[in-house]
Parts: sequence; C-alpha cells; structure tokens
Amino acid sequence: MTYVVTENCIRCKFMDCVEVCPVDCFYEGENMLVIHPDECIDCGVCEPECPAEAIVPDTEAGHEKWLTLNADYAKLWPNITRKGVQPADAEDWNGKPGKEQYLSSNPGTGS
Ligand code: SF4
Ligand code: SF4
Repeated sequence: MTYVVTENCIRCKFMDCVEVCPVDCFYEGENMLVIHPDECIDCGVCEPECPAEAIVPDTEAGHEKWLTLNADYAKLWPNITRKGVQPADAEDWNGKPGKEQYLSSNPGTGS
C-alpha cells in the first residue's frame, strides 16, 4: 500500500506535504509532486496536510492511473524534502476540473 498524489496537485504544489513525510519520499515535477510507492511507509501523515486534498491512499478506488503516474515520475524527478515557494496562482487552480492536460513531464528543481 502507498499514498498517491492525484490531479488536484497540478499547478497547486502547496508543498505542505513534503515537510511532514518521515521518509522523504516526495519527488518534484515542474508543476506537481508525486510519491514513490516503494518508499512510502503508509503512515498517512501527509494526507490531512495537503490543502488541495490531492493525496489519497491507493486503497481508495479510482486512482489507479495516478498510482502509475506517481510510480513512473518518482523514478525521473528529483527528491524534495523542503517546502519551496508555491506558484503565485496556486489558489486560483485549486479544485479546477480537467487539470491533467496541464501536467508537465519536466522535472522540478528538488530540494
Ligand atoms: S500539499 Fe498537496 S497540492 Fe501541495 S504539493 Fe503536496 S500533494 Fe501537491
Ligand atoms: S503516507 Fe507517510 S510515508 Fe507516505 S508519502 Fe505520506 S507522509 Fe510520506
């Protein structure tokens, strides 16, 4: 089992989640974070910390596609352990439907 970052993280990237993860298993893309499923210890601490409610347990149905995406990008993007500066328009994008089209495959800077 693992926790999974889902669509509403795209263009939000508040990054509150990375500060609380005890095993530092978040990885940073240009406009989204993902969780490495093999490193996550299922503690669940990050889930309530996400203001965008983008983090879900993989036991919740309907997120299979995002689990695959988390696993794939966690191998490509740099590790992030410290909260960075969130995008200025993050609040505007919070909760907007259809954000998947904006997902960037580019890596973030990591920290
Ligand atoms: S707190 Fe939520 S929206 Fe922000 S980076 Fe973490 S998972 Fe993404
Ligand atoms: S569930 Fe725990 S170990 Fe997994 S990503 Fe969240 S804080 Fe990290």
